[in-house]
Amino acid sequence: MDGMKWGQDEGDLIRVLEATALGMSAEEILELAVRRLFPGRIALVSSFGAESAVLLHLLAKVDRRTPVIFLDTGKHFPETLAYRDRLVARFGLSDVRSVAPDGDELRRGDPDGTLNARDADACCTLRKVWPLDGALAGFAAWITGRKRFQGRTRAALPVFEEDDAGRIKVNPLARQSAAEIAASFARFGLPAHPLTALGYSSIGCLPCTRPGLEGEDERSGRWAGSGKTECGIHLSRYRREARQAG
Ligand code: SF4
Repeated sequence: MDGMKWGQDEGDLIRVLEATALGMSAEEILELAVRRLFPGRIALVSSFGAESAVLLHLLAKVDRRTPVIFLDTGKHFPETLAYRDRLVARFGLSDVRSVAPDGDELRRGDPDGTLNARDADACCTLRKVWPLDGALAGFAAWITGRKRFQGRTRAALPVFEEDDAGRIKVNPLARQSAAEIAASFARFGLPAHPLTALGYSSIGCLPCTRPGLEGEDERSGRWAGSGKTECGIHLSRYRREARQAG
């Protein structure tokens, strides 16, 4: 599998990788992806949110020079930006790329900064989906921190999948439970995002995030009451439609 090139048999290869990952830990999956499958051609995308420290800790063990992409939407909690800087220093990550939306697109699409209140999907497209498209150019694969337990829309999440641009997405924590994530924080002494102490179980942009409520899915505090559950970077169909509409 070393230095794998993706071609016409990608579907089969993904199935083989998925089966291989069944017997592997999250760290072993990261090792496989970063060192063997996509050396120099893979990035990790992190929100520096409530659980991000676990995956970043593992990545630093595997290769702290791996590019880490943070979508700096301009709407984050100040606590998230401070937490990003704290984790980067703690883990010695040497290639963290904070990616902002394009200035011209922002002036055209959200001149007064209130698009999130009028059309959250369009705002996420402008501030997350398009910047990520640019940031991932040249990479063959990317790593995410998504987990199955986070909610219904992620319940069947595989470890390896393919995005609409033909890149491989690797989800090393897909099978981990909330208890396992909490255990990693305790075992490795990982610092918590400051907002978790205030009840935030999933942390995105400030205007679109509220604390979680008892009995809710972990991500229910995101775009609460709107029916929206994902920002779009993991929804290929939405990305295409938004591009066409724009
Ligand atoms: S989460 Fe809210 S503020 Fe952030 S990009 Fe999406 S709609 Fe805009």
